[in-house]
Amino acid sequence: MNWDDLRGHGGQVEMLRRSIARGRLAHAYLFAGPAGVGKSGFARIFAQCLFCERHADEELLACGECSGCKQMQGESHPDFFFVGCPEGKGEIPVAVFYGSGDKRGKEGLIHDLSLRPMAGSRRVAVIDDANKMNEEGANGMLKTLEEPPPNSLLILIAENLDAVLPTIRSRCQLLRFGALSTNDVTELLLEKELTTNATDAASVAAMSDGSLQTAAQLLNPALRTLRERLYGFLSEPDMKPLDAAKTLTSGLDEIGGDTHEQRRGAGWLIRFAQEFYRQTVLVLSGESLAGQSIPSEVQQFARRLQSRGLAGTELAMDLFDRCVLAENHIDWNVSPGKTIESLFDDLARMSRSRVQKTV
Ligand SMILES: [Zn+2]
Repeated sequence: MNWDDLRGHGGQVEMLRRSIARGRLAHAYLFAGPAGVGKSGFARIFAQCLFCERHADEELLACGECSGCKQMQGESHPDFFFVGCPEGKGEIPVAVFYGSGDKRGKEGLIHDLSLRPMAGSRRVAVIDDANKMNEEGANGMLKTLEEPPPNSLLILIAENLDAVLPTIRSRCQLLRFGALSTNDVTELLLEKELTTNATDAASVAAMSDGSLQTAAQLLNPALRTLRERLYGFLSEPDMKPLDAAKTLTSGLDEIGGDTHEQRRGAGWLIRFAQEFYRQTVLVLSGESLAGQSIPSEVQQFARRLQSRGLAGTELAMDLFDRCVLAENHIDWNVSPGKTIESLFDDLARMSRSRVQKTV
């Protein structure tokens, strides 16, 4: 990997380069920003630059050919450590920091960082999901941060800055990361072959809030099937709200996951509905839709509204607004099923009452 493989964080690279050139390489950094924008990839490239034998630190470049670079690329560098929260776990296990059982204190990240570098001039450790350290883990790392071992560099990564202990935060140099552009997400999806379909890539990128991770989740086949069903319901002339809500919530159940994931799934359904009405409005207003493929359900729905002239466009906009409102509600303590149910109820009622008005 090299900086060229990364998107959208040129400003952060430049800031690091300048501060290192001024002799200000910190002992610890905290990379903060939304999930899926490339923070951990950034940390790996940063480490590789520091391990590169052909470039001085302040150049912040990696040749890709020296043994330091090769070992980083092969994930076998003896002075590089990367830890994080295991999939499905709520926190980083304490053993990651201290070692476990008889080996407690003789292995684990705190021990590894205290040893002298084996190959390069320093040891680099990355803690992904740093907001998921429990108290014991955080206390151990706090000691390391207070008295950093010589020749060590620690990079903490967190989505949510507020969830990182202030005592830890204050000992790290903060580097903030923003969302990626929709274009960057589209290109990354295709480059990484998460999809080979450019239209799909563009459509999920537009809904991803600038996160590659979110975009990749949206490509989940089960979620896509659910979207197709949703579009089917929304385009029906006489949608039965209860049937729609039932089918869709049981579809969410099939995808499975805990309450948090269910809520997120319901959130996606609402976002898909927004997208449906947004595209309807675009079709009705005759905007240029070059490069965008409009699903047949949207076209069908738009054709029906078209016969009502301006009132049709207004209705589509109102339906869109109702979905935005539902998205705001999804984070409240209402069950996701209830939110979906009342949304469909309203969508059906709004469509019906307008029909009567225009007759
Ligand atoms: Zn190199």
